[in-house]
Amino acid sequence: MVSKVRIDRDGCIGCGACVALIPDLFELNANDGKAQIVEKYRSENDPSSGLVPDNMLDDVKSAAEGCPVSAIKVE
Ligand code: SF4
Repeated sequence: MVSKVRIDRDGCIGCGACVALIPDLFELNANDGKAQIVEKYRSENDPSSGLVPDNMLDDVKSAAEGCPVSAIKVE
């Protein structure tokens, strides 16, 4: 199973917390410094949207809880 994760890139302040927690999934965009999903996990080539396997879900939930502006949503 996979879950959907979405980053509100407008709301992201580029603190890097999610990247520090799961560098395999999140990265900071080189141009605007905001978080995005790494290419491997992107859904439909959208850097703000990804599909993650169950074994990453706990970490993704922690990242969502740890985001200071609640910009990460897990569905
Ligand atoms: Fe952006 Fe939130 Fe990630 Fe910080 S933790 S880089 S604010 S998405």
